[in-house]
Amino acid sequence: MAKKNLTGKIGVTTENIFPVIKQFLYSDHEIFLRELVANAVDATQKMKALATSGEFKGELGNLDVRVDLDESKKVLTITDRGIGMTEEEVDKYINQIAFSSAGEFLEKYKDQLSSIIGHFGLGFYSAFMVSKQVTIDTLSWKENAKAVHWSCDGSPEYTMEESQKSDRGTTITLYLDDDSEEYAAKGRIDGLLSKYCKFMPVPVIFGKEQEWKDGKYVDTDKDKVINNVEPLWTRQPADLKDEDYMKFYRALYPMKEDPMFYIHLNVDYPFNLTGILYFPKIKERMAIEKNNIQLYCNQMFVTDHVENIVPDFMTLLHGVIDSPDIPLNVSRSYLQSDSNVKKISGYITKKVADRLEDIFKSERTTYESKWNDLKLFIEYGMLSDEKFCDRALKFALVQNTEGKFFSLDEYKKAIEGEQTDKEKKVVCLYATNMESQYSFIEAAKNKGYDVLLLDCELDSHFVNMLETKFPDMRFARVDSNSADNLIVKEEKVKPQMSEDDTRDLSDLFKSVLPKDNDYFVEADNLGEDAAPIVITQNEFMRRYKEMSAFGGGMNFYGNMPDSYNIIVNMQNPLVAKIFNDSKSQIKPMEALPEMPGEKAAEAEKSKVQDERNAILDSHRKEVEAFAHENEILKQITDLALLSNGMLKGKALSEFIERSRKVVEDAYGDKK
Ligand code: ADP
Repeated sequence: MAKKNLTGKIGVTTENIFPVIKQFLYSDHEIFLRELVANAVDATQKMKALATSGEFKGELGNLDVRVDLDESKKVLTITDRGIGMTEEEVDKYINQIAFSSAGEFLEKYKDQLSSIIGHFGLGFYSAFMVSKQVTIDTLSWKENAKAVHWSCDGSPEYTMEESQKSDRGTTITLYLDDDSEEYAAKGRIDGLLSKYCKFMPVPVIFGKEQEWKDGKYVDTDKDKVINNVEPLWTRQPADLKDEDYMKFYRALYPMKEDPMFYIHLNVDYPFNLTGILYFPKIKERMAIEKNNIQLYCNQMFVTDHVENIVPDFMTLLHGVIDSPDIPLNVSRSYLQSDSNVKKISGYITKKVADRLEDIFKSERTTYESKWNDLKLFIEYGMLSDEKFCDRALKFALVQNTEGKFFSLDEYKKAIEGEQTDKEKKVVCLYATNMESQYSFIEAAKNKGYDVLLLDCELDSHFVNMLETKFPDMRFARVDSNSADNLIVKEEKVKPQMSEDDTRDLSDLFKSVLPKDNDYFVEADNLGEDAAPIVITQNEFMRRYKEMSAFGGGMNFYGNMPDSYNIIVNMQNPLVAKIFNDSKSQIKPMEALPEMPGEKAAEAEKSKVQDERNAILDSHRKEVEAFAHENEILKQITDLALLSNGMLKGKALSEFIERSRKVVEDAYGDKK
């Protein structure tokens, strides 16, 4: 055969695009190895297909893909025994297509290269990100094909000539450039192969298996296969046992605790997707790790950032998804609006809901025992994904303060008899802390009510969501009112008090309450034996404050001071006595002068207003003086504060001192 030399110019628009692409793609240089090994694997798969179809009748031979590195010469080669390329094919696929598409790609995505590069297979072209020269030696499987040697030094010029290659397939040789010396290290290549090629479908060989001999590791004769060609997700679920799934999980995440459940995904219409998702134990928000799902495309690792492909809450799961139908060559913001991605996302959500519902129905005890590790995931999913929410209303659980679990429907049935108020709403009582709300929980239980424990960080949002899903249900925290008033079943008669008495009662208590909060003092009849005062916090105010603290965007509420309701039990004998004493000991307030009419001069109006304020002030001072002298008033107020965990520091030590005196006095009286 006559030796033929061919020189050509690669058809790209830019004079020399290599420096440009190197600069743009700086952060993702390492994907070159994935691209070249993937091409080698493709060519091998095509070869197998030709043999299966009978088009190729010769010997397939060993089909392994080999990666070899000469550390000292800084030369990396990737060799396959795939279909190879004829001279025409090299010209078509490498000179024309590979290079022109790289040029087009650059033109099109100039502005957003760095954000999409991780997803775009640059193909053969990416070899130039790390090489000063690249050569191809290839021999096609076709009869009478001639081997081709192609070489390009990073300028748009290439040479093509006859090659010495005598066996079928392709060898790509990279002469690493000085900026890319890092890839001339076995450890680095090992790392890249295990990141990107661990599950590719054809054996990939890099180096030799090692053994421990004479105090060090030495190479054996045996080739080291770096990949598992048949990862678990590509196998039939029917052939697999629980233990296989756990083993695979441990191989993927060697440092993690075993997951609770898994789902094997497998669909081929209307899109192709396989994968395995695992439910890790999630105990608290701080421990949440995202980015533990790996995305593959035909067993080639693409990314572990799947946030635009699955709903946000799903990123809490672990595992792998493999789909050739997820477009990789588009920007991330575009992904979410892609119709295939939407379908895939919907499918995964449905599968996860199916699996959870299935466990809820058929393995209730297991489900309950794992609920606390599942709850954050499910509640987050319900709050962030409408479709998942509607499914999960069936299998979401609530737990009461006695540790018993209920589904939402079961719970409603269990309490509606005792806990329906006069507006026909079923009132769910809940505590967020068993210790600090102990006395309120007990008071509610004594009334025959059930109390839920909702101590998860998302619960205030969760409760709001449930109220919109179940309009005939309402949630109230046990300390949002006195036990008597938590569930109002019929209108009660409130104490009748004059305007003056109402104001004085309020001033009396405000005088002895800590100064940094807002109070709303309210007289009520709670019965002779009930506590003199109960301090509660408005349900909605508190919930909004909690949600804004968590980041619900309601800062108006977040900045408000804490506000409490002081419910004064007028039927309690101590309260009655203190109030009567105050009325007899404080001289009644002078009558306030009438405000002048609308038409009066401004000066006149403000003079009368000042007189009125002066009278009110001086009366309030007298009420305060009485309150500060009244040890019992302070004592009953402090007791209420104490049972809410609100008595602290100086106030607490004064209370202890005062209590000792009260006890000593009582003992002295008895003697
Ligand atoms: P892509 O793989 O996305 O098509 P590439 O730039 O990686 O783009 O490759 C261009 C073409 O060159 C491939 O489609 C294939 O036809 C051919 N090719 C690349 N590498 C090989 C190989 N190792 N063996 C055979 N053909 C190859």
